[in-house]
Amino acid sequence: MLSESSYDEVPLQKRGQIIHNYQCYGKSVLGYPLEVFLPLSKQISYLIMAGHHGDEPETTTVLSTVLRTVAPEHLNCAVVLAANPDGLSRGTRANARGVDLNRNFPTTDWSSHPILHSWLSKEPKTVELSPGVKPASEPETQALINLVSTLSPKVIISLHARLACIDDPRETELGHWLSNQTDLPLVNDIGYPTPGSFGTWAKEKNISLITFEFPDESIVSIRRRLSPVLYSLLNGVAK
Ligand SMILES: [Zn+2]
Repeated sequence: MLSESSYDEVPLQKRGQIIHNYQCYGKSVLGYPLEVFLPLSKQISYLIMAGHHGDEPETTTVLSTVLRTVAPEHLNCAVVLAANPDGLSRGTRANARGVDLNRNFPTTDWSSHPILHSWLSKEPKTVELSPGVKPASEPETQALINLVSTLSPKVIISLHARLACIDDPRETELGHWLSNQTDLPLVNDIGYPTPGSFGTWAKEKNISLITFEFPDESIVSIRRRLSPVLYSLLNGVAK
């Protein structure tokens, strides 16, 4: 684990904005740009992604905080802070058409049935979300598939909240490292069906994807606890 002083490459005065190169890889239903921040070199270890579910804004906030501490010459990963900007701007889990983007991928198990979600955590799942009218119906999904194809990352790390685990179906070395560094359990299955998920799509494409589920804690607490780990990932220090 790195100490606090290890991630102070960018002076505090310069952290008010993101100084890394970026490209737009598409647009959301509402027309928000889908942005990917990129390293100066062509070498990309990982694609790290936050904000796929708009009701998990802590993933975006914490990853942005850490990204702003990394000098551009040390950034080793492609970073998507807001995979679902419609949901983040409206505070909804789904995009502006009510589609849960993490159930909209073209997988063999994609289903047209509504996805049931808890209104409050640990309550019965009664809120209906759509998986889309067909697989990859949403522009955010199409754009993400194209981005993965263009970048060909070694591993995708998808940040979610608040199940407090490292979901790595392949139980890779990186998955074990993340689990050790975060004290979050390593699991190879989230424990319930997720038809049409990004993880299932990646598995069927033989792409390694780790779902990093933040704990159910305040942003301040998560930032304190997980910033060193995220910094190591962005900086390419991680295994
Ligand atoms: Zn999520």
